[in-house]
Amino acid sequence: MDAPPSEEERTAIDAHLGLPEDGWSGGEREGDTHRVARSGRAEREQRHLLIEALHVLQAEIGWISPGGMNYVCRRLSVPPAEAFGVASFYAMFATEERPKTVVHVCDDLACRVLGARELCAELETTVGPEGTESPQGGATWHRSPCLGMCEQAPAILAQRAGRADVALGGATAASVAAVIAPGSTMTCAGADTAPQTWEQSTRAELRLLRRIGHADPLSIDDYRSNGGYEALYRALEIGPEATIAEVKDAKLMGRGGAAFPTGVKWEAVATQPAHPHYYVCNADESEPGTFKDRLIMELDPFAVVESLTIAGVTTGCEQGYIYIRGEYPLATERLRNAIDEARRHGFLGPDIMGRGITFDIELRRGAGAYICGEETALFNSLEGKRGEPRNKPPFPVQRGLFGKPTGINNVETLINVLEVLRIGGAAYAELGSEGSTGPRLFCLSGHIARPGVYETEHGATLGEVIAMAGGPTNGIKAILLGGAAGGFVGADRLDVPLTFEDARAGGYTLGSGVIMVFGEDTDLVDTILRIARFFRDESCGQCVPCRVGTVRQEEAIHRMIAGRTIGSMADELLLLDDIAKVMRDASICGLGQTAASAVQSAISTFGLFREGGAA
Ligand code: SF4
Repeated sequence: MDAPPSEEERTAIDAHLGLPEDGWSGGEREGDTHRVARSGRAEREQRHLLIEALHVLQAEIGWISPGGMNYVCRRLSVPPAEAFGVASFYAMFATEERPKTVVHVCDDLACRVLGARELCAELETTVGPEGTESPQGGATWHRSPCLGMCEQAPAILAQRAGRADVALGGATAASVAAVIAPGSTMTCAGADTAPQTWEQSTRAELRLLRRIGHADPLSIDDYRSNGGYEALYRALEIGPEATIAEVKDAKLMGRGGAAFPTGVKWEAVATQPAHPHYYVCNADESEPGTFKDRLIMELDPFAVVESLTIAGVTTGCEQGYIYIRGEYPLATERLRNAIDEARRHGFLGPDIMGRGITFDIELRRGAGAYICGEETALFNSLEGKRGEPRNKPPFPVQRGLFGKPTGINNVETLINVLEVLRIGGAAYAELGSEGSTGPRLFCLSGHIARPGVYETEHGATLGEVIAMAGGPTNGIKAILLGGAAGGFVGADRLDVPLTFEDARAGGYTLGSGVIMVFGEDTDLVDTILRIARFFRDESCGQCVPCRVGTVRQEEAIHRMIAGRTIGSMADELLLLDDIAKVMRDASICGLGQTAASAVQSAISTFGLFREGGAA
């Protein structure tokens, strides 16, 4: 690896990392400086900057060339083979030269039933086959997994070297042409232009979404005049122990899918003897069908910053991180502004609200890897490594980020803390049901009249939430609950209550709050094939059951669709069942353990591939 960087690459990296100190860290080797290397530890401690540095190359140059990667490796003292392993892990990084603009067209579950397939077919004609350069040059397009804009399906994300990335909903061939045009000044659409879902609920009932649509997401003054920073003030007044007691009294359960009690987690981090402690906001919302965290980050970003600050100061941290998925350019921009503003106004930094308490937040971007939503994979990614999950135990509260005690919650869980401190833990516990307290956000998409994010108390039935969003547009053939890692139910389950305990007892899942409605004319076989392809693509490949099982699952479905089964159809179904059990029982992490859930539930609920089935 002796390829040199171009001047453009060197300038981009130096602008990000600062000028090299000496010849050992990328500068000219002259004079005496080249005789003395810094100690290994100081050098290795820079490894966590690797992914951001690769982002810089990708954003400025359009790909990560050997010369550019070499220069990053010298600057950060990372072996090139390691860095290549990282760069090639993440879908948003290119290690081979490609056109400067790449449009990712979501053809995942919600988008594909709402025009993505037709859009892709049109692009094949107007721009050219997937992956080839456009007739005008400088652009190409690819099919993509879920971009987290299901309420605006079909969605696209354009990575444009030298210009800001653009995410757009309601995409058409014309908007793709506009975004790839040389000199295009298009900007992100985002939740501001989406259907104003929060207006469809009675505002008096809204707790988590109450500021959205009212407060300017760019203004800290607006945030404060709408109740912002009152919760942090209260947390600082009552102190860490009482704050944790409030969260425990509230019985707040994590909203990311595992439903772990938040107060218990906070207490476990706060009482760990090892230091420093870290707190992480998991904003890597990548579950197909999920977009609630994006909406909050775009429209109420200060709430995320405030609630992470409360979590951090309560659990004895001085440093927090928000890890946001790379496909969310507008949310990234708004969070960055919110962090800067909070720092400028003394809500972050060395003396929070004049109390002499230190806490600060760094924003880090993912780069297109679903698995980084898994907490230990996320830590590895924050440390500048491939996003591969770790074995547990040790659990993150004992040994998490950088091997230190770490708390982690997703965006929705964290902003619930603001409500807990506003009304008190006991009052919060009165909302919802006995085992599922408080309000809950659901992401409604697919064949539904008003797709969007809806807030309700735990305990509303599935049918009631679907009715809030205007009801189905074409009947209901199936409903996907909890995303690709969740499962399907039929229209006969509209009366099921949406609580953790009912879901456990009834054999369905709330997961990340996905409710995706599929109308009567949906091809369910196509839908489960897309899910199988998704998991095959997103498996990190670290453990055999998942790496091989996800491939075999997709192959078996392909064979059944084509009628080229090995043995009979019943044999293939038995094989699928077998693969599902092995993946569930023997995979390291939740991805492999749930990679067959939706496929299995669709087959068992709707009799797919059986005579008289609903395919
Ligand atoms: Fe990676 Fe899949 Fe194993 Fe998880 S289950 S560690 S995603 S291979």
